[in-house]
Parts: sequence; structure tokens; C-alpha cells
Amino acid sequence: MATDATSTGFTGAEQPPSWRLTQVLGVQVAVSANVFAAALELKQRGGGQIVTLNAEMTMAARANPELGAAIAQADLVIPDGAGVVWALGRQGYKVRRSPGIELARALLEYAACHGWKVALVGSSPEVMQTLRQRLSSEIPGLNLVLTIHGYQAPELWPGLEAELRGARPDLVLVALGVPRQETWIQRLHQGQPGLWMGVGGSFDVWSGLKQRAPQWMGRLQIEWLYRLLQEPSRWRRMLALPAFAWEVLRRG
Ligand code: UDP
Repeated sequence: MATDATSTGFTGAEQPPSWRLTQVLGVQVAVSANVFAAALELKQRGGGQIVTLNAEMTMAARANPELGAAIAQADLVIPDGAGVVWALGRQGYKVRRSPGIELARALLEYAACHGWKVALVGSSPEVMQTLRQRLSSEIPGLNLVLTIHGYQAPELWPGLEAELRGARPDLVLVALGVPRQETWIQRLHQGQPGLWMGVGGSFDVWSGLKQRAPQWMGRLQIEWLYRLLQEPSRWRRMLALPAFAWEVLRRG
């Protein structure tokens, strides 16, 4: 007898996901042909947390148990960063680098075309104000249900978080920096239907405050150098990059 989805109670969420799971230095990463399709699949499966993993974050996850746990429990960890792509290549996985900023933008455009409710959290009050205006004019139809800048007084956060959850957005982009954005999302997204994604400095770029590295630097895989020149104070954090490479090589 033929069975259908209704009679078996089958939903897509019970099928294994279309991406393969592997690890880089013990941190989970999804290998998928198309990260945008994977994100939409996750939304259909009931939503969840998306992490964009680079070498610096991989090392931070190993040193910071709270960040490590948030990434371990995330629903989709995509390889953002030449270092992670290189490490996957050594395991025989040929994947394209998937910059989080590009996936986030593609999701905003999809959201605008499909009536998704969108919330933005993080960045300075000035950046958030410019961002709201820019996104509304650059992406017609975008339904921004809530925007919360990232420098609120501590006593305001619980109320804002309740408001955000109450809005049940389909897409929540969070620019609070690593590791805070990942641990904050992990705490808040449970039981929510949307995609919740940490986007680091993306709001600063979209608002025009900061620039992305030119494409030729991306091709040479030295975007980190551009970032260091823009923000020299990051030099200490960037020592994680050679440490990452060394650890990958040491493990063979
Ligand atoms: N940020 C914030 N609240 C804070 C600290 C940072 O909203 O208390 C924002 C900051 O304005 C920036 C983003 O978080 O827009 C972090 O960007 P960064 O480039 O440092 O990201 P990371 O490399 O840490 O992911």
C-alpha cells in the first residue's frame, strides 16, 4: 500500500540533512555543495543556528568551552575562511569558501521576496541606524520587524530578548562579535522557527563604516592582512592563524 507524508507523519526534519559532517581540529563543519540551499533546508526543517567558521574561531572554540559548546550544538556550521577550506582540502573535501557576509546578504534578499520577518541585532547605534535605512532602500520588500543595537544597558537586554522571541522572526542576523554572538544565539534560538546567524562585522560593512578586502586579496587568500591593516588592534587575535595552520599540519 502506498503511504504518503500525512499517513506516515513524515516531515523533512526526520530525514538526515543533505550536508556531510566533518571536523576541523575537533570542531564540526558541514560540507555542502551550496551553503545557501543548506540554509534554506535548515529553515524548512524548523530553523536553527548557523555558524560561519574561520581559523580564528576554530582556535577560540578550542580554548573557550562556552564557545566550543555553542558551535558543537549549532545546526549548520559553514566554512568561512581560507584556513578552514585549506584544512578541509587536506581531508579530501573540495569545498568553496563561503563568506558569511555573502550568505547573510543572500538570505536577506530571499527573506524580502518570501515575506520573512527579519530581525537585526548588534553593532553600534549609529551603524544600526544607517543600516536600517540602507537595507530598506537596497532590498525592497524587506520586512524588518525588530532592530536592536549591540550596546544596550545590561538591564535592557532581558526585555529586548523577550520582545525578539515574541516576534518569532524567520531570520535573525546577530553582529555582537565572536564569541558573544554565538553563545547569545545558542541561548535564545531554542524553540524558535527562524534561522539565527552570527555575522561579525557584516553590519559595519553594509552600513559603509568598514570596507571588505578587495577581490584580488580574496583571491590571494590574504583578506586577513587587509583586516589587520584596517584594525591593527586585531594583531594579537590573529596569532591564532599560524597556530591553526601549525596544528592542522601537526595532526597530518
Ligand atoms: N559589537 C556589539 N556590541 C559589543 C561588541 C561588539 O554590537 O558589545 C559589534 C561591533 O560593533 C561590530 C560587531 O559586534 O559591529 C563585531 O564585529 P567584529 O568585526 O569584531 O566581529 P568578530 O570578528 O569579532 O566576529
